[in-house]
Amino acid sequence: MLGVRAQQGTAMIPELFDDELRRRLRARLSKRDLFPAMGISSVRRGAGRPCIVCAHTIDSPTLEREVEGPGVVGVAHADCYKVWREESALFRHRPAV
Ligand SMILES: [Zn+2]
Repeated sequence: MLGVRAQQGTAMIPELFDDELRRRLRARLSKRDLFPAMGISSVRRGAGRPCIVCAHTIDSPTLEREVEGPGVVGVAHADCYKVWREESALFRHRPAV
């Protein structure tokens, strides 16, 4: 037990949220809980549907990204989509576990 960080709480510090979101997204991608954002996507105004990435609803006039997956369609905030896409790209370069 050397140099273990004392504070490993679950405090939600805004700056860390992106990392947390990313980590969860990566886990979901690897479990195939979420399809990789590789398909065609379109942008439109939110229609109150929940974001597939962060689970918060996307209300107009916030823009949402509608992404086509294998037999499914997912909607995400523009920012969430960006992270989702980045993680999906990384995921694709890794061999399937
Ligand atoms: Zn979101």
